[in-house]
Amino acid sequence: MTKLHIGILCAMPEEIGSTTKNLKNLSEKIYGDLKIFSGELYFDQNETSPLLISVAWSGWGKVSAARAATRLISSPFQNKLIDLLIFTGVAGSANLSINQWDIVIPNELIQHDMDARPLYDKYEIPALKEAKIQSSTSWVKWSTAVLKESIAKNEIRPFLKVRNGLVATGDQFIASKIVIENLSKELPGLSAVEMEGAAVAQVAVQEGIPWLIIRVISDGADNSAQKNFIEFLEKYKKCSWDLINALLKRYLDAPWEIES
Ligand code: SAH
Repeated sequence: MTKLHIGILCAMPEEIGSTTKNLKNLSEKIYGDLKIFSGELYFDQNETSPLLISVAWSGWGKVSAARAATRLISSPFQNKLIDLLIFTGVAGSANLSINQWDIVIPNELIQHDMDARPLYDKYEIPALKEAKIQSSTSWVKWSTAVLKESIAKNEIRPFLKVRNGLVATGDQFIASKIVIENLSKELPGLSAVEMEGAAVAQVAVQEGIPWLIIRVISDGADNSAQKNFIEFLEKYKKCSWDLINALLKRYLDAPWEIES
């Protein structure tokens, strides 16, 4: 297998933890206020062929996320463009059975603030001509299985359950029981809300790059959301890298050739 280059994007540094400390031969590219850190990740000392990793934090919201995703996609490291784009970070739960520390890997995403009626149906993204962006089944299956196994073996505490479902993205921090309940009624099967995922997914689909979104529940998108979000982030920053590392360790089993 030729060297693989994985792009990891998140909204804030806390969501990727100590990633850059674990990379060898670290280099940095600066595009305005965006920094992309690239380096080599070795899983054991005798390894000769490392994974190439590029990581960046985009800032909050769809525009910032789309801009950073586009930069990451067009930013080679060791002459290699990225083979997979991962977006990871925290999210608000939209379902009472999905709790803090649960991991949500969406099999579909929607932009809940997209509304070009009457020209298009509500939520339909004009460029894609569909409302829901479908994740790749094989990437979702692989990441769900790996993380479930890591939790079962107690390797990534304190993460709890791995869930799949619909994730809704919009330029809004949802911190109201009424708002999240109404959105859940509008979007049956809604698991979580956040501010970047469906923007990154749209860019990746339009650019033809394999992608994967991984979210960890920080709050209930309800009236306590801001307090819970802030407290959660303090704890999460210490183990966010463990989550991604657990996945990357199993990169050889990943569905590289099957589909994008
Ligand atoms: N207003 C908050 C932070 C908002 S940004 C504060 O004052 O600190 C929230 C970030 O976490 C975004 O990157 C978003 O993707 C994610 N997120 C977590 N919980 C969320 C929620 N309830 N609604 C929307 N985004 C949420």
